[in-house]
Amino acid sequence: MSELQPPTGGVWFVGAGPGAADLITVRGRDCVAAADAILYAGSLVSPDLLSWAQPGCELADSKGMDLEQLRAWLLERATQGLTVVRLQPGDPSLYGALPEIAQPLDEAGVPVHIVPGVTSAMAAAAAAGECLTLPESTQTVIFTRVEGMTAVPSSERLSELAKHGSTLCIYLSATLLDKLSAEMLAAGRAESDPIVVVHKASWPGAESILRTDIANLAEDCYKAGITTQAMIIAGPTIGARTRSDKAESRLYDQNFSHGFRQARDSS
Ligand code: SAH
Repeated sequence: MSELQPPTGGVWFVGAGPGAADLITVRGRDCVAAADAILYAGSLVSPDLLSWAQPGCELADSKGMDLEQLRAWLLERATQGLTVVRLQPGDPSLYGALPEIAQPLDEAGVPVHIVPGVTSAMAAAAAAGECLTLPESTQTVIFTRVEGMTAVPSSERLSELAKHGSTLCIYLSATLLDKLSAEMLAAGRAESDPIVVVHKASWPGAESILRTDIANLAEDCYKAGITTQAMIIAGPTIGARTRSDKAESRLYDQNFSHGFRQARDSS
């Protein structure tokens, strides 16, 4: 049972999760079920999620809309007192144009709520059976993208970020793979450094996982027909389950005390 009472009124930005309908949160599903009107991002949101909408709920796909149309659609319905859901892929806080869509609603005094979702980086890590942090290797994950049509601040180019040696979860870059590899090499990463690409993570019957390295990324994705909807994960944790040389977390170390357990040798 969700903590939150079923929504009434306002606009609810709901993270739909990465694809599989059952990866939306319970709260997100409650919002879908309570909505009078749902504007969903049809290019990345599964239509299966709409089966939870109540009969008579107005459904519209934002795929073909520009920003003005999208804002007007939400504002018009919310100001009539309807409960409106904006259903968007993954988590709404990442690459979702939330500020520019929410601002006119804020200015009109429409209550705006955000329901988090499972972002595609997490779904991709799960699909590939990978962890993103590893003791003594990296304790940091960076969510980023290669610069394409959308500018990326120069201090955040991959050629800079990849110098840290942290895990990189790279969104929106499946068409920029040569550039991605060139920037990683410029940052000092090796051609043989492993990369996992997950295409359509969690989508039933459509998910695929490709293991490659920096040198072969573009060619291998081309051969596999991966040109869209891909999460690219690079970093020193990739493949850790198959390596014997890794440091292990102290969390479960028998000689390590913490608030819930005494170390065996701490008498
Ligand atoms: N807000 C979304 C990201 C939207 S940007 C989120 O939190 O996941 C769209 C990009 O997300 C795609 O280009 C791709 O890189 C990634 N993406 C979204 N769904 C995906 C999926 N099911 N599998 C792999 N990558 C996905």
